[in-house]
Amino acid sequence: MINRQQPENSIYFSDLKGIVKGRLIKNDLPDRKVSYLVTDSRRPTLNADSVFLAIKGINHDGHNYINSMIDAGIRQFIIEDENKLECFDSVEVNVFLVENTIKALQNLGLYKRNNSNAKIIAVTGSNGKTIIKEWISQLLYDSEKVIQSPLSYNSQIGVPLSVWGIESYHTIGVFEAGISQKDEMPLLEKIIKPLYGIYANIGSAHESNFNSIEEKAKEKAKLFIGSKRITYCGDHEIVKDSLSIYTDEKLNEWSVNNPDSETNVKYIHKSETTDIEITRKGRKNSFTVSLNDAVSLENLTHCLVCLLDIGYSPTYLQDQLPLLKEVDMRLTIKRGVNNSFIIDDTYNNDMAGLEAALTRVNQFQHVDKRVVVLSDIQQSSISKELLYSQVEELLKSFKIDEVITIGEDISSHLNYLSGRKISFSDTSEAITNYPWDDLDTSLIIVKGARKFQLEKIVRRVEKKIHGTTLEINLASLANNLNFYRQKLDPGVKMMVMVKALAYGSGAIEIGKILQFHRVDYLAVAYPDEGVNLRRNGIYLPIMVMNPSPESFDMLHRYDLEAEVYSLNFLRRLNTYTIEEKKHFNVHIKLDTGMHRLGFNADELEEAASIINSNEFIHVKAVFSHLAGADSSEHVEYSNYQNELFSRMSENLANLLDQGFLRHLSNSAAIIRFPEFQYDMVRLGIGLYGIEVNEIHQENLIPISKLKTIISQIRTIKKNETVGYGRVGKAVRDTKIATIAIGYADGFSRIFSNGNASVYIKGQKVPVFGNVCMDMTMIDITDIEDVKEGDEVVIFETTQHLLDLAKSARTIPYEILTNISERVNRVFLSE
Ligand SMILES: *Cc1c(COP(=O)(O)O)cnc(C)c1O
Repeated sequence: MINRQQPENSIYFSDLKGIVKGRLIKNDLPDRKVSYLVTDSRRPTLNADSVFLAIKGINHDGHNYINSMIDAGIRQFIIEDENKLECFDSVEVNVFLVENTIKALQNLGLYKRNNSNAKIIAVTGSNGKTIIKEWISQLLYDSEKVIQSPLSYNSQIGVPLSVWGIESYHTIGVFEAGISQKDEMPLLEKIIKPLYGIYANIGSAHESNFNSIEEKAKEKAKLFIGSKRITYCGDHEIVKDSLSIYTDEKLNEWSVNNPDSETNVKYIHKSETTDIEITRKGRKNSFTVSLNDAVSLENLTHCLVCLLDIGYSPTYLQDQLPLLKEVDMRLTIKRGVNNSFIIDDTYNNDMAGLEAALTRVNQFQHVDKRVVVLSDIQQSSISKELLYSQVEELLKSFKIDEVITIGEDISSHLNYLSGRKISFSDTSEAITNYPWDDLDTSLIIVKGARKFQLEKIVRRVEKKIHGTTLEINLASLANNLNFYRQKLDPGVKMMVMVKALAYGSGAIEIGKILQFHRVDYLAVAYPDEGVNLRRNGIYLPIMVMNPSPESFDMLHRYDLEAEVYSLNFLRRLNTYTIEEKKHFNVHIKLDTGMHRLGFNADELEEAASIINSNEFIHVKAVFSHLAGADSSEHVEYSNYQNELFSRMSENLANLLDQGFLRHLSNSAAIIRFPEFQYDMVRLGIGLYGIEVNEIHQENLIPISKLKTIISQIRTIKKNETVGYGRVGKAVRDTKIATIAIGYADGFSRIFSNGNASVYIKGQKVPVFGNVCMDMTMIDITDIEDVKEGDEVVIFETTQHLLDLAKSARTIPYEILTNISERVNRVFLSE
């Protein structure tokens, strides 16, 4: 028999009793694993193993969403409001009633932390936490298995959710902690229990819920009560003072100004790069980075000084530096229209953050005009008059020429006499009424609270690199993932196929969001694709389907799991692993009728004997692929493949000395053959919104929209022709629009001459003449009110995709994966 492999430290619902200290009020279902903790009812991770924790907030009560969570398929709950028990009257569920759900969540985090041996680095401070966290993870990538908190999860709820992600294989954790009032930090300290700490800067602004900035700094310092070493910059007096409660041997101070610091830092600016000279204990090390601005340099120095102190070698760190990525979540610089630059900080809005964003203006010497777009600022401790007079001072000191205010509060309270002020009540009004296209050689800082959705303004002023854009909606992706998760039996794992740039959508972004939603595995076709994911912070297990012996080094270095598909390949791997003494996780592919890659039944004995005599090859899984799962015509063949797979894998289980997972189903089979699930399924096209069986299409949303713009419009006379080969001949006077997409973008030449249509304002418009490499002409004679620059949709709905596929005599997979890399990908999260 094959054992279902479980991660060693799985927690079951019944185990929660000892952890969350509640009463088991309902226990209708057999015990299940607890993999996912859901606290946000808007974005649940739906799975048989999910547990919904109903949390009471100030403006929000999770208990109000219990019914919708039940409708969505969640069956395990932790609640605190006894009055809501009636929600469960007519369903079979398991429910714990606890005194306080946030406490319960924190206890879950605590439990995970106490069962992990990972060394934890914790980061706190007002600005830069997220960047420091990302950079530490990137720098350690080559030597550790790193877990980090997703996004900016740093609160009383975010921290335990992050810590919950620690698995037994992680060796290092990097978590950020933030507080909004007194007495919160000791709790976070207990859950994170950092061995090392980094205390980034502290802003100068007044903060709600604290009497002074000093008080807040002292509260934050409590994160390091149990830490061995704390890295900080001694030039920040308030930070330094707040740490004076600790003994000297705990303090890993660095300084630019104070020669008495244990570590001295000097920045030597060159034209493109900066040398960071770090002198510790009489030894000087120099690191070259392609960063120039003070904020980034300080953040990176924190990382370097901390990692040197832990014991990573200067040469190792220098090797990693060129691989650092700008962390584009919080503060990114983008190219705008007409030679402008945009600092995109549409992420949060407080005074400290505003100051941090403004300090970057000095990086841009060659702009003619400095513009700040600013929304209402949320801060309750001081009066609005005082708050906005501080904002005014800041804007003045950074010589801002123009401020565009968005929101009632800021518009009425902010006076900006040192420059121009233009006010709007909301974002859409600003988008419509401000002359964005007139901005020329400007620096545009866009900064605002999330709810104002200032990213729409960024999108408005961002330079369109190429008129054609593929918009990918991550919320639709989550919807589709949840739909398939609900189809799985309890305990069945989910592998997601992100080969071919995640079916054209963009591998890294999709990989990150899947990691966030805690899928179990990713799969790619080629080793390069796996390396790209690893290099960008994806630590999920990754299967590589088409590896070659030349890539063994790379597979090993990046911890990629090879598909082993033939005796020849296995022999090469056998020799390599023994010579190099390197461990490999592999997936054995069986040919059950696809006849592409895989072992035949009569090769299994030899394969097993090679593997049994090799201590380095670890069989994670045995799998096969169905040739016709999407078609009712081939049901019999699919059943035959399944039976053969069942027999062959059983045979291998008897032959091999080690246990493994089994997986067979692709998207189509998850729907059509629920009985083929085994231990894991491999989701592909369904995630991207196409239900190939066409049974459940209404439950899925296509995640991408391909659109372009009209470059030019002209009218031609009857009998004139359009484009190469003169195949487009006008049978009447015809209005022609040239659009900015061609076959090099993935808009196939087969679509020429009416073979496919595109959409303007929802109306179908046929292609006219031959599709060119970079452009296509369409007939807009019958469409009213069209002008140059208008949007043209290539596909958006499932029907569009199916129609295009049909015209090209292919399948939607090919349409999606043909979209070339030069097409700009834009990711939307709502
Ligand atoms: C691409 C692929 C899948 C996913 O197939 P979909 O039809 O997109 O769900 C599954 N398994 C293997 C081996 C694949 O190559």
